[in-house]
Amino acid sequence: MLNRNCEVKLDVLNDGDALLDETFEQFREAAQYVADYGWSDNPANIIDSKSELHDATYEEVREQTDLVANHVQAARSLAAEALDSCTELYFEEDQAISKPTFRGTVVVYDSRTITFNDDHCTLSTTDGRVTAEYVFPEDASDTPFETYWEDPAWEKSSATLHKREGTYYLHVNFQKEPETDTSTVENGTVLGVDFNVDGYLAVTSTGAFLGNADFLTHKRDVYERKRGNLQQTGTRSAHLTIQSMGDRFGNWSEDYLHRVALAIVLEARRHDCDAIAVENLKQIRERISNASKFQQWAFKKLQEFVAYKAEDYGILVDDVKPQYTSQRCSHSECGFTHEDNRDGDEFECLKCGKELHSDYNAARNVGWRLVQHWLKSGAGRANCQVALKSGTVNGNGEFSPTTKSGSTGSPLTSPRL
Ligand SMILES: [Zn+2]
Repeated sequence: MLNRNCEVKLDVLNDGDALLDETFEQFREAAQYVADYGWSDNPANIIDSKSELHDATYEEVREQTDLVANHVQAARSLAAEALDSCTELYFEEDQAISKPTFRGTVVVYDSRTITFNDDHCTLSTTDGRVTAEYVFPEDASDTPFETYWEDPAWEKSSATLHKREGTYYLHVNFQKEPETDTSTVENGTVLGVDFNVDGYLAVTSTGAFLGNADFLTHKRDVYERKRGNLQQTGTRSAHLTIQSMGDRFGNWSEDYLHRVALAIVLEARRHDCDAIAVENLKQIRERISNASKFQQWAFKKLQEFVAYKAEDYGILVDDVKPQYTSQRCSHSECGFTHEDNRDGDEFECLKCGKELHSDYNAARNVGWRLVQHWLKSGAGRANCQVALKSGTVNGNGEFSPTTKSGSTGSPLTSPRL
């Protein structure tokens, strides 16, 4: 499932403010009640299971508050997630933790508690519904609003209501099912893509070096450090600050990966490719055994985004096993495979002497693997080839230069990436 977020300012009608403010307060109390219940000074005894917390607190919170059932559940989920991140910080990252504390300026809405209309929404409160009009930016072109709000393919799945300096904002989560029409490619040109945890995030068989993995990791480290410091201060607002910081970092990193994915797909288009070959995610995890959870998440997202974008252009995305893609010489029919061929960023074939950037060499091999798979899998795909910088190479290693004049420019190096 593809996820996007965007925020819209609200103009609350008919004195609904008081009801929303009361809902904020009761939602806060509900989340706090659950967090208090689940918390223990001994981290091993913290209860963060949603079902366990639900069973223990639901009836009580329903009685104590005027919240609708789905708000009680949403408050419980919010508390469960906060408790879960406490145990994760403690057990997996060895950090000091303190009991989650909630401020009263967040309410989580789902399809039962919010109704989206064209120019307004209605929101459940502690006493019936409140109507609020959207306040869109004057120029909505090229903003998330135009992309997600007006495109019916994006479903508004959930939302959180916030209040900042007296103004209400709705943070809307949009979802879209990636259509997985893997229509077969009879005879096709393949773009190979190699993913990395350092240096360039993605390198293509056509020699495009895209995204900066070190920059992404650095931004993540900065965020984690801030989060750790906040967690240790244990102040009243620390937990919600962590939450909004997490949202912001999540949006930023998704957007970054989104742009890299788009650049990959545009590269495939530029070289008239019918398919994009990527490494199998499970095997990337094995190959890069020191990849952090975040990096694994990033690869997964990147592949999702590539698959989704590619589909718009009718380009197939298929994964291949990445074994030996970094050790094999991709130069025409050579194919010599040896671990000493590669030394960091440099690939120099011990047999034929060909020198290439090692990620570029790997990307060519990823493409080659898909071509091999097609050739072996049988009929109809005899004329398939890998797209290279200035031509293509077929399954036998035969190179054909690009015939179109000027169709292959310099490697795509977007300064934004
Ligand atoms: Zn070689």
